[in-house]
Amino acid sequence: MAGKRVSNMEVKRINRNQMYWLINRQGRVSRPEIAARLGISVPTVLQNVSELMERGLVAEAGTFDSTGGRKAIALMPIYEARFAIGIDITQNHIGLVLTDLSGDVLVHRRQKKVFTDNEIYYRELADLALAFLEESKRPTSQFLGFGLSIPGIVSLDNRMVTHSHALGIAGVPSQRFFEFIPHPCTLTNDANAAMIAEMYHDPEQRTSIYLSLSNYVGGAIFTQPKHDFDHKPAFENLFLGDHCRSGEFGHMTLVPGGTTCYCGKDGCVDSYCSARVLSNLTDGKLEVFFESLAQSEPLGRSWSQYLDHLAIAVNSLRMAFDSPLIIGGYVGSCIDAYLDDLRRRVIKLNPFDLDADYIRSCQFKVEASALGAALRLIEAFIQTI
Ligand SMILES: [Zn+2]
Repeated sequence: MAGKRVSNMEVKRINRNQMYWLINRQGRVSRPEIAARLGISVPTVLQNVSELMERGLVAEAGTFDSTGGRKAIALMPIYEARFAIGIDITQNHIGLVLTDLSGDVLVHRRQKKVFTDNEIYYRELADLALAFLEESKRPTSQFLGFGLSIPGIVSLDNRMVTHSHALGIAGVPSQRFFEFIPHPCTLTNDANAAMIAEMYHDPEQRTSIYLSLSNYVGGAIFTQPKHDFDHKPAFENLFLGDHCRSGEFGHMTLVPGGTTCYCGKDGCVDSYCSARVLSNLTDGKLEVFFESLAQSEPLGRSWSQYLDHLAIAVNSLRMAFDSPLIIGGYVGSCIDAYLDDLRRRVIKLNPFDLDADYIRSCQFKVEASALGAALRLIEAFIQTI
């Protein structure tokens, strides 16, 4: 199964890792089933299960109904064995999420806090993070760290925020965000983080595009792992480009000479498809826009124009990538009822597709970026299992 150059130690780790993922995703599975599903010998399964149980990551949980012969013992993951906290930093808010090895949003909170690049802000950020950690009432020995997400470009080595129009910073060391937090921290672009959250829960992990429609338009590109026997953290399968600027779909030109974008150029996708285009019509409140949409003709017309622009952007991404497309961000969280309408508009533009079922909305409607940022730490831990 594994390539010839892989050492025995590595094969052992890959086997154990595969087994852990199977138990994690399955929730309840027997030793013989693991052996059958992964094509691993029963003695190897027995040994690895013992190790996982010793490490407190897996437990026995009753038996399965017998189909003749001895009843198989069920194994289940101990999700709470490790946990992490995600923090999404935006221009005006800080979102916090508690997650564990289940990858679910267990607790979340969002509060107003205007970003300023100064010590007062970073101290307050640390206070919020540490208070949230304490409120979790979980043992710090099981805490993996804080995963921060920002609407900005983070260098590949994680050391530098090279650019964030949204936060108004450039060339800022990542350490500045972590300075007052005495725990491991990572920094991830918000759309990349949201994509990680989607992929953590997707056993197929096919190549996919994430189009994030929040107050700024961003995106992420996930490429299907080549070797499915070795489960790599989703972050390692993101296509980042030469300057970690891939997925900046917000600055593809949609309308030549059109509305000026915050980036200074004219006619960017962001000027037509950001959530602000809609929320600006209802006093900055996107939920009010969607609540009022059915009763308001002017809002209906604006929505129709929005969908026309979005359809062009989506179709361009489809033509470029020929892959499933996830619509996320604030608008993606409200778009379910309008997906078929969007699909119809996209099909009209596409010379190949007979349907647009490849478009779907995001799984996580709240705090997807904070969750994904935390899952980077969770996945890094799982890789060491
Ligand atoms: Zn732009």
